[in-house]
Amino acid sequence: MGLLATHLESTIDAARFPADRPQTLDRGRPLWVRYDLEAVGRRLTKMGLSSRPTDMWRYRELLPLGETTPLVTLGETMTPLVRCLRLGAQYGLAHLWIKDEARLPTGSFKSRGLAVAMTKARELGIRRVAIATAGNAGGAAAAYAARAGLELYVFMPADTPPVNQFECRLAGARAFLVEGSIRDCASVVSQGSDALGWFDLSTLKEPYRLEGKKTMGFELAEQLAWQLPDVILYPTGGGTGLIGMWKAFAEMVELGWVAGESLPRMVAVQSSGCAPIVRAFAAGARHAEPFEGAATIASGIRVPSAIGDFLILDAIRQSNGKAVEVDEAQIGRWMRLAAQTEGLALCPEAATCVGALESLTADGWLGLDERVVIFNTAAAQKYAHAFESRLPTIDPDNRIDWDRVASGDGS
Ligand SMILES: *Cc1c(COP(=O)(O)O)cnc(C)c1O
Repeated sequence: MGLLATHLESTIDAARFPADRPQTLDRGRPLWVRYDLEAVGRRLTKMGLSSRPTDMWRYRELLPLGETTPLVTLGETMTPLVRCLRLGAQYGLAHLWIKDEARLPTGSFKSRGLAVAMTKARELGIRRVAIATAGNAGGAAAAYAARAGLELYVFMPADTPPVNQFECRLAGARAFLVEGSIRDCASVVSQGSDALGWFDLSTLKEPYRLEGKKTMGFELAEQLAWQLPDVILYPTGGGTGLIGMWKAFAEMVELGWVAGESLPRMVAVQSSGCAPIVRAFAAGARHAEPFEGAATIASGIRVPSAIGDFLILDAIRQSNGKAVEVDEAQIGRWMRLAAQTEGLALCPEAATCVGALESLTADGWLGLDERVVIFNTAAAQKYAHAFESRLPTIDPDNRIDWDRVASGDGS
């Protein structure tokens, strides 16, 4: 069944569950996929990796899939790690990179998780799946469900960006707006599990999306010649990316691929419009209180309460990292700054990490010589509504005022 995955493990107390049948939560909390890492190490080496295709399936031994399981794939390329000298210089940073996940199918890194989750769902014989989403996961789920031939139900908050609604319609998902937050959407999905018998693919409700997300960590290590950066800034909503990368690092340490003493400090970045993890971190709490009245243009991180909150906080603390809140009102400015210095179109979520550079260099937490990586989790083009961008017009029937054109004002 599972290639080298041996079992599932409770995140509460390491209780074991079989990996060869559909599993969701244990006592309301997520499950880890565990592997026979010795056997993985015998089959897969750093050297061996270098000759494989440049996509996320090159880490197949570290994914929970049977050897002959057909993949549900849309071509999940390795994403470029772009050196950002000009943006770094804004803050005096000499070594800044942005890992551009916008290049993935459906324009966000959600495709990594959903490619693995849909592949696994189909392998387990599941026909009908459902997901609660802040937006991009719904768009990705719609595409991968179509590709897999699975029946998909999507539930998103009523004010989810139009492009995500469009993606669901386009790919034929049964998609619905829910009055309320993603928490209310999650509750609709759990209620419907009984009525319609679907399998819940919502964040951390099943163990496999996390495994897809963790490939970001493997890729990063490979791209930096197995010398992980000093600091990773990650826009944090449900936390799968951050938790997944931290799991990937632990697996690579056990495999002897990276040194355990030099793991990155993990920084969870949130907007002042929705910062439950930042508050819990500051309070020294293990779980986060639900964030009331959550509102941010960075819709992917508008997650007022995360089922994996304690896993996010564990990873931050174990790594000597931090949770940082940035000013919602400046997200548009940081998006433009990144695009105007580097040509990189960051989503509002990733732009919060640019904001975090500002505060973390100002207070000295981030050393100017440190190697820093930001994840651009989606394409800015999915957020054309983020700020007013209608262009000034030119009337060709009138005399054109070239001074006004030069100043960018129209004629
Ligand atoms: C989902 C999402 C996030 C948050 O991801 P998690 O790993 O669940 O915390 C960040 N940015 C974008 C664009 C997203 O769609």
